[in-house]
Amino acid sequence: MIDSIMQRLGVGADQYRDGDIRVTTPIDGRELGRVRSASRDEVDQAIADAQTAFAAWRRVPAPRRGELVRLFGEQLRRHKADLGALVTWECGKILQEGLGEVQEMIDICDLAVGQSRQLFGLTIASERPGHHMRESWHPLGPVGLVTAFNFPVAPWAWNAALALVCGDSLLWKPSEKTPLTALACQALLERAMAEFGDEAPAHLSQVILGEREAGEQLVNDPRVPLISATGSTRMGRQVGPAVAARFGRSILELGGNNAMILTPSADLDMAVRAILFSAVGTAGQRCTSLRRLVVHRSIKDEVVERLKQAYAGVTIGDPLEGHLIGPLIDRQAFDAMQSVLTQAREQGARVFGGQRQLAEHYPDGYYVAPAIVEVAEQNDLVRHETFAPILYVLGYDELDEAIALNNDVPQGLSSCIFTTDVREAETFVSAVGSDCGIANVNIGPSGAEIGGAFGGEKETGGGRESGSDVWKTYMRRQTNTVNYSRELPLAQGIKFD
Ligand code: NAD
Repeated sequence: MIDSIMQRLGVGADQYRDGDIRVTTPIDGRELGRVRSASRDEVDQAIADAQTAFAAWRRVPAPRRGELVRLFGEQLRRHKADLGALVTWECGKILQEGLGEVQEMIDICDLAVGQSRQLFGLTIASERPGHHMRESWHPLGPVGLVTAFNFPVAPWAWNAALALVCGDSLLWKPSEKTPLTALACQALLERAMAEFGDEAPAHLSQVILGEREAGEQLVNDPRVPLISATGSTRMGRQVGPAVAARFGRSILELGGNNAMILTPSADLDMAVRAILFSAVGTAGQRCTSLRRLVVHRSIKDEVVERLKQAYAGVTIGDPLEGHLIGPLIDRQAFDAMQSVLTQAREQGARVFGGQRQLAEHYPDGYYVAPAIVEVAEQNDLVRHETFAPILYVLGYDELDEAIALNNDVPQGLSSCIFTTDVREAETFVSAVGSDCGIANVNIGPSGAEIGGAFGGEKETGGGRESGSDVWKTYMRRQTNTVNYSRELPLAQGIKFD
């Protein structure tokens, strides 16, 4: 099965049949392949090659660079079914979500193609006669991309599509848990490059397989001016200071601890559907998964009851077979979830669900019933991101209290409010409302569109990816002052003669 998918995607068996990294599917723990970690010398050479590729690529006009991204988008459209299935095989998310991830790649390609004709700066009034000022945006250099297992392809594409139209070359260190999807993306991009022709230099895009050490090497190398890293806050705590120490630029997309405030005026039918998708979808393994429900005390019991019924109705099983909840990524994720649930019980929380499922059928697949955990207060356990389907439920009386709870966690990625009261909605998205990078009204915290800037504050890292003016991060800004007069006046009226 995997062989035929990989073949159609253009990845030769020699690339994933031998090596030190064993790739397994979370569906049943079976081995999908083996890949080889790059050595230190190979990473070093890849960075040198990326510099050479950059030197050529930056000369290609930006709208032409957009044409390469357009061709890549076409490859993705053609191979959406296979790449989506491979995402499911490798990281265990349900097929609908695997396909959704590929659609997100297609969407960002479309955005980047348009962007390639709009990399514009400002013209600025000069204080000196016969002078004008403007801002130019130039390609930056090789971009180092480090990505996480749970979104193995879309975040790479958010970065890659924009970086390519901005004139940069790419070095991608994917998660060691999902290297096959990375090889497939690279193969599809290479097909697009072949169609594009000679203007696309060799090594414009490279994949560096390996564990954390390979990522560290990229992060520490001054030849890579921008590092975009997606993953845990633990990883960001290492990457952020390391890049800053060499005066590099970083985009950090780290952990979230996302809340929904559910008010008495909310449309509860809509809210329950939104909670279900955002709390149990992707088996709670999205950075934007709903982890905390802050619900008004007047409706709390009713909402918890409705949620329990809704949870009982979702099917758990093979993500390729139409179930709504697939497996956790591995045993470690399962153990972490169980440990947190045990601690919550010991602290007096009421825990519903959370048990292992289908263990006889899949001894090496870690399927769980999603958990609802009613807690009396927002303690350290609740403040911590556990990457599993655990929904904490907290009560509130006044909106200010709910907003304070929303904000009182170290992370600041996504948030939402369900209300039909315009005052509550506008307060939530105002300067005194949610402190997150994403604040939604009447939709859940997960499932962002690529048109907006994606990312979050505080321990989420402060980075932004995707739409809006994010393209500027992949370029360097230059201020130009041009004198077209025959005089040489100095700024601020300074006389120097
Ligand atoms: P992880 O931090 O374990 O690994 C992520 C990547 O970082 C991997 O490729 C890993 O090899 C690499 N890495 C780890 N330490 C490194 C270091 N010191 N230097 C360089 N590279 C290093 O994360 P994970 O378990 O794969 O993913 C889950 C986490 O990612 C969750 O916390 C989730 O919230 C977060 N995430 C965030 C976003 C976002 O956009 N904010 C998106 C997806 C996932």
